[in-house]
Amino acid sequence: MKCRICGGEATIKLKSYNIKLCEQDFLNFFKRRVAEAIREYKMFTHQDRILVAVSGGKDSLSLWDILAQMGYQTTGYHLYLNIADASEQAFEAVKNFADKNNLPLIVDRLDEIIGAGIEQASKVMKKPPCSVCGMIKRYRFNRLAEEKGFSVVVTGHHLDDECATLLGNLLHWQEGYLARQYPVLEEKEGLVKRAKPFVYVGEEEIKIYARVRGINYVQTPCPYSRGATSLIYKRIIKEIEEQMPSTKIYFLKAFFKNYRERFYAEEEKVKLHPCPECGYLTVGEICNFCLLKKKLQKFSSQK
Ligand code: SF4
Ligand code: ZN
Repeated sequence: MKCRICGGEATIKLKSYNIKLCEQDFLNFFKRRVAEAIREYKMFTHQDRILVAVSGGKDSLSLWDILAQMGYQTTGYHLYLNIADASEQAFEAVKNFADKNNLPLIVDRLDEIIGAGIEQASKVMKKPPCSVCGMIKRYRFNRLAEEKGFSVVVTGHHLDDECATLLGNLLHWQEGYLARQYPVLEEKEGLVKRAKPFVYVGEEEIKIYARVRGINYVQTPCPYSRGATSLIYKRIIKEIEEQMPSTKIYFLKAFFKNYRERFYAEEEKVKLHPCPECGYLTVGEICNFCLLKKKLQKFSSQK
């Protein structure tokens, strides 16, 4: 098997692009895809202070790795979720990566912030663990970035994640979510800019990147991920891509370019206002994070 670029021995086959590459040319290819997304959506520059949300999995650690490789100013932020063994392993992976690469890391503990873990938070909010977990993460990433003066928060969401989300949002005609699904969300009053530099790279490519770069990431999934509906959409998207390579990238790019704007125009009419307790933008009376804290207080006072 010959590398398409240098003619040397190819060890990597990328089905979606129908190319074979050697490790070095794969790394260059991967970096170009990430650089393309950063440039196309004006995500950040070398002057920005970037907060990288790191869970300890392959996606977020690979993201931190490549941004640091590209010379961006990055700091990792890990939220310790108190989910039995999973959190300890995730924390170890993040800490080892930061130490090995001499990169700054900030760690927060969920039990210290809300006095409870995900399970209890999910119970009082009467919502699935992943939905509450996502809400808490978005809130904390934003708050921390604001407090410590970071100009942008980046997450490891990749092409497969985004396609699965898009499919789910379309199937349920979630217009608000469709409006907000974009590789970059600009800063608004009380909301720090957010970006997804992996939007053009698939999960398989990230796996290869992590292996080639020797990144030790946590392999055991969070126990709650098993019940997540996003896994169903991901499986379907994967099957479609296998039968029709390049469908994923077409599906997503066409949505961003031609269709998302229509939902966005409607969404702009929805009035957001600062939460009276904390200032975070919300549509509700208070934001969901403050609501969670109130519900947890009530729950513990009833015990
Ligand atoms: Fe949170 Fe769900 Fe991810 Fe677990 S799987 S870390 S609960 S979002
Ligand atoms: Zn609030």
